[in-house]
Amino acid sequence: MRFEGQAAIVTGGARGIGEAIARRLASEGAAVMIADIDESEARQAAAKIGERAVAQRLDVTDPASWDSAVRAALDRWGRIDALVNNAGIAGRSAPIWELSVEEWQQVVDIDLTGVFLGCRAVIPAMVEAGSGHIVNIASIAGKEGNPNAVPYSAAKSGVIGLTKAVAKEVATKGVLVNAVAPAVIETPILEQVSEEHIRYMTSRIPMGRVGKPEEVAALVAFLCSPDLSFSTGAVYDISGGRATY
Ligand code: NDP
Repeated sequence: MRFEGQAAIVTGGARGIGEAIARRLASEGAAVMIADIDESEARQAAAKIGERAVAQRLDVTDPASWDSAVRAALDRWGRIDALVNNAGIAGRSAPIWELSVEEWQQVVDIDLTGVFLGCRAVIPAMVEAGSGHIVNIASIAGKEGNPNAVPYSAAKSGVIGLTKAVAKEVATKGVLVNAVAPAVIETPILEQVSEEHIRYMTSRIPMGRVGKPEEVAALVAFLCSPDLSFSTGAVYDISGGRATY
């Protein structure tokens, strides 16, 4: 029960990796806000997890929506111990010359600006409390770059740079900010990309299989926990051996 008495916000927590993270944190004692753009899916996920979970509508691209979510968490629990910036989309699989500016912008808004807004929204309360853990879900695409995923790769690289920069700003204030870089994980996000793209990504994993949301959740739980005390601005790979640096 590493999170007994603690409160966490998980964005995109209605399904996939976010739901697994919310479930794992709750199973170890945390009160969890499942913050998702799809409120009814968030409610269903919270109901499945049980009384420790609450649903909140949150559009990570909207600063006002962040204000409401943070206020709701502080009103309810009086604290935010952990934020997992997990919400993200893959975008359409296509080469750069076939992408519209709107397609680029949508991925960057959700996958990168959403993380900026999330960190900006919770850090004041964490600094005031003198403690907090933030985990930003990046991707191996942000380290290596995946062809036919330029907006996604660029946004996830941005998440890595943002994580390293923010971590240094709060390093002496008790707030630890880290990122996770998964390779392919079996979730509904894969419905957004082509079969060919999934084959390309999976073929690059030395373990020869895709990952499970629960495997990412176990790592994220460690990164949110008091067990993590001397690591910040780091990027943790969970890629079945794909990541080489
Ligand atoms: P899913 O598509 O399964 O889940 C993402 C969740 O985020 C959905 O519930 C989605 O809601 C929600 N969401 C989308 N846009 C917003 C928004 N603007 N505000 C709030 N919530 C939003 O994805 P995964 O679980 O696979 O991915 C989670 C994270 O992990 C993402 O950041 C992804 O990039 C990253 N990742 C995933 C990998 C994978 O292979 N699965 C590999 C590497 C990284 P809705 O369905 O209504 O849009």
